[in-house]
Amino acid sequence: MELKELKCKNCGSTLEVEKNTEIVTCNFCNTTFSVETNENKAYQEEKGRLRAQDEKRKEMIDELDKKTKPMRLIGKIWFIVILIIFVLIFLTILYNIVISHNKSNNMKVNSFNSVYELYSGKQTSLSVNQVLKEVITNNNKNNNHLITVIYEDNNTTDTKVITDINNSIETYENYNFIYYNISYEYDKNGYIYQVKIEK
Ligand SMILES: [Zn+2]
Repeated sequence: MELKELKCKNCGSTLEVEKNTEIVTCNFCNTTFSVETNENKAYQEEKGRLRAQDEKRKEMIDELDKKTKPMRLIGKIWFIVILIIFVLIFLTILYNIVISHNKSNNMKVNSFNSVYELYSGKQTSLSVNQVLKEVITNNNKNNNHLITVIYEDNNTTDTKVITDINNSIETYENYNFIYYNISYEYDKNGYIYQVKIEK
């Protein structure tokens, strides 16, 4: 057991302690104090050095953070601007798709209806014949938009019956033109679905 001498930090008495002892209690004044061994001195120094390094690194990070802050702000602003532009482009495209879809839909409805609307209101048998011919053509080929014909006791989409009606339409009565009233009903999509012919 190797011994070494050291002085009490309180009363100054000379104490003999084991070489590796770190904590000593004085035999004379009963004070307890730690012994600075080379090892724990080196340890403290290393700890201090590491702490200093750590602080320095933190400072550098803080500084870098401060320096790049405006750039990061600009980056964020750019990101938001580009995002807004993309959203606007997207909405514009969507809007145009909806508009053009509606336009083409309206055109379809209009071109479908215009054939009949040409002859609406007070008309002679000629117009009635024309309208009924169009209805027959339509009902033969277009099952999606069948048109009902209402005339006297008839209420039909059947092209045979409509042909009969068409043949029964008279032009004169006592050498005077007979006038018919032609009116239409429209479905929720705007298409004509019913023709009413009244004498
Ligand atoms: Zn002492």
